Amino acid sequence: MTREPYFERELERGVWWVGGFHGGGFGVNAAILTEGKRGVIIDTLTRPLETRRLVKRVRRMGIEPLALVNTHWHTDHTAGNCLYDCPIWAQRGGSRFLKRYWSKWVGRPGEKRAGGLRLKPPDHEFARRASLDLEGEELQLIPLPGHTRDSIGVYVPDRRILVAGDAVMDLPFVWFGDSGEAIQSLREVQRLRPRLILQGHGPPCSYERVASDVRYLERIRAAVKVARNHGETRRSFVKTPMEKFLSPARGRALGDSWRGLHELNLWKVWAEAGRRRRSAR
Ligand SMILES: [Zn+2]
Repeated sequence: MTREPYFERELERGVWWVGGFHGGGFGVNAAILTEGKRGVIIDTLTRPLETRRLVKRVRRMGIEPLALVNTHWHTDHTAGNCLYDCPIWAQRGGSRFLKRYWSKWVGRPGEKRAGGLRLKPPDHEFARRASLDLEGEELQLIPLPGHTRDSIGVYVPDRRILVAGDAVMDLPFVWFGDSGEAIQSLREVQRLRPRLILQGHGPPCSYERVASDVRYLERIRAAVKVARNHGETRRSFVKTPMEKFLSPARGRALGDSWRGLHELNLWKVWAEAGRRRRSAR
């Protein structure tokens, strides 16, 4: 299922799924967790108009934002940071990339496509883990690297809800990260057994679905080994269709917008295997 552009839906009391336009064809998500008149916002959406719409929505709800959490540095999750006065939490290590890619991906100050948004790095950076208090409810910020090194999820143990950012998306995407770390993180998600997972891209899903994400990445890693041993070239390997690594039903449900990301996954895992070979020599 693909939803673009902006929409919002209260999945259960105090748990809002907000979706926006992405351009990839699969939308991008943000979330609002509320308790009484207080709330924590997780990610900002990406399109200037929609980042503002989300902020306005929070205001109209009469919610005081206690914190904004960046699940990772990618600008489709952080573009709206400058619209928030509350503390912005993120895992250490991402802001140097945010600074490096901002003008390329969002636009230089004054550039039309930036829509008046300006770079604002997170001001509450932590190493590995942190926790936030939402009116007595604990929100755990837990490391889930693999999509990027700084990826985190927001886990609400009392309600067994995980806002996963891009650590869980309709198709795992490891171009900026590491497939081995992504598998470890997805296993961590399985261990938590959340009742509800809000993904960075795509509709909410269950932890059972995550098993097929792990299989997808493991099969790619195994296939890279075989292909390299048989002297296949990287150029031909990256054309292997995603259906080879997924159940037919899931491949069909994903559709064409994910094929480009799948090809980048194959490039990345191939490169990882090359690095491992060189370091083993
Ligand atoms: Zn991302």
